Amino acid sequence: MQHVHDLIGIGFGPSNIALAIALEEKRHTSRPLDALFIERQLSFAWHPHMLLDQAHMQISFLKDLATLRNPTSRFTFINYLYEKGRLTDFVNLKSFFPSRHEFNDYLSWAAEQFDDACAYGEEVFEVLPEEQGGEVALLRVRSRNHTGKLVERLARNLVVSIGGMANIPESFRALRNDPRVFHSSSYLQDIAQLGDPHRVAVIGAGQSAAEIFMDLQGRPGAPQVDLVTRARSIRPADDSPFVNEIFNADFTDYTFSRSAEERAALLDEFWHTNYAVADLELIQQIYKAFYQQRMTGGNRLRFLRQHDIRNVVADSNGVHLTLWDQNALRENTVRYDAVVLATGYAREHHKTLLSPLASYLGDYAVDRHYRLQATPDFHPAIYLQGACEDSHGLSDTLLSVTSVRTGEIGSALLATPPGIANPAHLRRDAAVQT
Ligand SMILES: Cc1cc2nc3c(=O)[nH]c(=O)nc-3n(C[C@H](O)[C@H](O)[C@H](O)COP(=O)(O)OP(=O)(O)OC[C@H]3O[C@@H](n4cnc5c(N)ncnc54)[C@H](O)[C@@H]3O)c2cc1C
Repeated sequence: MQHVHDLIGIGFGPSNIALAIALEEKRHTSRPLDALFIERQLSFAWHPHMLLDQAHMQISFLKDLATLRNPTSRFTFINYLYEKGRLTDFVNLKSFFPSRHEFNDYLSWAAEQFDDACAYGEEVFEVLPEEQGGEVALLRVRSRNHTGKLVERLARNLVVSIGGMANIPESFRALRNDPRVFHSSSYLQDIAQLGDPHRVAVIGAGQSAAEIFMDLQGRPGAPQVDLVTRARSIRPADDSPFVNEIFNADFTDYTFSRSAEERAALLDEFWHTNYAVADLELIQQIYKAFYQQRMTGGNRLRFLRQHDIRNVVADSNGVHLTLWDQNALRENTVRYDAVVLATGYAREHHKTLLSPLASYLGDYAVDRHYRLQATPDFHPAIYLQGACEDSHGLSDTLLSVTSVRTGEIGSALLATPPGIANPAHLRRDAAVQT
């Protein structure tokens, strides 16, 4: 008979590492869970193609994998520093914001401690219902490893923590396989493969676009770099204290308890804390780079603000972008050797992975503990991390509430005896209609 895991976690990024930690720390007081995580990368890496040398965290190190849930955990960033022998030196930095390289090292250090619980190099592509007596009792999780081999596992419960998928604007979709056009999520890898492109466009006005612009402009080959944005300016992320309260763990209760309209209004009001904004310090560096250019002359760097991309054509000479200048009301076509799409992430991919379960899951609504609502004949619990912004607020895609959220999911999992009927019911007919 095939082994049945109590829990399978898809993805082993910060969200599921934090869950592994929370479950480990609950072992003293609860039954142990047989949990396995499946990660498509060959080993742990945190957004590896955006590990730029100058980049640092946008959030306090205290919002690590454990501290806000359990400050005495051995998995805190402070304990990581202590074990690495850097705690005192870090204090001398007087910073809440470690470099992204250091935070990646911290996350890797934590992930390594769960090597036995993670199958690396496997990508989950679908989850099937496993019926017993006409009801869904288990889930069959299907993945493919890096050699192409199919792997199937059974689980009583599932936690889907797969992060975001590259958001590619419609006008670039036909060029998905063109190595000269790529998303920021693969930036370091793809730019290295192009050698020294002379003329590069960076599309976007957020943190990634700003970081990539600064990285490119400082490269030894001194490429021509156009920063192309629809907006008039690059806006700073508002992380002032009262605004930052929306990222407090207890704000999740407030958000979840509001009506759908009120939640949408909250997202709208605070959108610019996280989207289409960059660190003020980085914006100042970019401004300085343009100022320097004004002093020395030349137009190697251009800020093509208020520009819409009207057409994209690729040929053997390059990628040609037809840009509409909203201000000058003029159209211009520019040839590039590379185009970097810093155009954000979509967070709907769980619906593709779970599509064989669609008739049980209605409109993929979650309860307060991130559990997908399902029909009464569907018994496994499925939790989502990082895909609940609409119901749980802007902190959901960030590290802000990760440690607390995984404590909540861990408790919910442990409170559900194996095989119990799903308490988060949908009417079956309602589920089928959507
Ligand atoms: C460049 C960058 C910098 C950021 N900096 C910050 C920051 O400073 N502060 C902050 O709060 N947030 C930041 N974020 C937001 C980011 O979402 C969180 O930091 C964090 O990575 C979320 O963790 P996660 O585990 O939910 O998702 P991810 O980190 O995206 O991890 C998901 C994991 O799932 C794996 N996976 C995906 N699909 C599958 C599949 N089908 N099968 C198996 N494995 C799969 C992926 O390989 C990945 O390892 C940043 C995001 C980016 C892109």
